[in-house]
Amino acid sequence: MVIPCYNEEAVILATHSRLSSVLEGVGRSYEVIYVDDGSQDSTRELLGSLVAQDRAVRVVGFSRNFGHEAASTAGIAHARGRAVVVMDADLQDPPELISKMVELWDQGFQVVYAQRVSRRSDTAFKRLAATLFYRLLSRLTDVAIPRDTGDFRLMDRKVVDAFLSMPEHNRFVRGMIAWTGFRQIALPFERPKRFAGMTKYPTIKGIRLAISAILAFSTVPLRLAAWLGAISAFLSLVGIIYALASKLVFQISIPGWASVFIAILFLGGVQLLSLGIIGEYIGVIYEEVKGRPLYVVQERLPLNEEVDK
Ligand code: UDP
Ligand code: MG
Repeated sequence: MVIPCYNEEAVILATHSRLSSVLEGVGRSYEVIYVDDGSQDSTRELLGSLVAQDRAVRVVGFSRNFGHEAASTAGIAHARGRAVVVMDADLQDPPELISKMVELWDQGFQVVYAQRVSRRSDTAFKRLAATLFYRLLSRLTDVAIPRDTGDFRLMDRKVVDAFLSMPEHNRFVRGMIAWTGFRQIALPFERPKRFAGMTKYPTIKGIRLAISAILAFSTVPLRLAAWLGAISAFLSLVGIIYALASKLVFQISIPGWASVFIAILFLGGVQLLSLGIIGEYIGVIYEEVKGRPLYVVQERLPLNEEVDK
C-alpha cells in the first residue's frame, strides 16, 4: 500500500486502523508505506507512532511539500510488493475495495483502477471542471486515460516497473499508468466525502494539475498556436482585400484607424497566445533538462531499514 499524506493529522489514525482490518481480511502479506509530503502539522509524529506499533508500516518523509504526484511516485519506488495499491489518506478511497481489486488481479488484470460512478461528493464547480477537463484531454491525446479516476488503483509489479522507468518530471500519474498499457479494468465505486480535515487540492492546484496533464500528454496546443496564426492571417487577408476594393473600386476613402486598430489588437492577441502556449512547453522542457530529483527524502522509518532508494 502506498499512501501520500499532506497535513492529514485529522484522519491518518482512523485511516490506518480501517485499512489494517481490511488488509488482514485479504489474507496476503503486505506493507503500508506512508509518504509524508512535508506536512506542517503532526502527521509526521503520528506516522512515527504507527511505525512503533505496527511492523507493516514504513514511512518516507519528504524534506518539504513536493506535491501529490511526487509523493505517490516516491511511495511506488519504495514499495516491494508483487502488487502496489495507491490510495488517498482521507478515506475517500474506501479500503474495502482492495479485496475486490486483489480478486481482479488474481484473475489476470494488471491494473485495477477505481472509477467514480458519480461525483456527488464534489462541488458543482469541480464537477463541471472535471467533465470539461476529461473531454478536452481525451480529444487532445491518443492515450486512453480513464475518466473520473483518482490515483486509487492496484498495479502489478510489471506495471510498477514500467512506471518507474519513466523519468519525466512533469508527472500525471494516472495518465502515465494508462500509457503503460497492460490489461486494465475499471472498478466502479461511489466516492464518499472526506472523512475529516480539509481538501489539499484548492481550485488553483487542480487547474495546475489539469494543465500539466495536457502538457504531458499532448502537443496539440502547440499546433493550436499555428492554427490560430493561420486563421488570423487568413482573416487579415480578407480585410486587406476589402480595404483595397473599397479604396480602388468603390472610391471610398476610409478614415481607417478603427479597422487598423482592431487588426492590431487581434493579431497581437493571437501572437501573445501562441507565445504563451510555446512558453508553457519550453517551461516543461526546462524542468526536464535540469534533471533534478523528483523529491528529496529527509527520513525513512523504521530507522534501521536498508536504504537503497
Ligand atoms: N496530498 C499530498 N500532497 C499534496 C496534496 C495532497 O500528498 O500536496 C495527498 C493528500 O494527503 C491526500 C491525497 O493527496 O491523501 C488527495 O488529496 P485530497 O484528498 O486533499 O484531494 P481531493 O480528494 O480533495 O481531490
Ligand atoms: Mg480527498
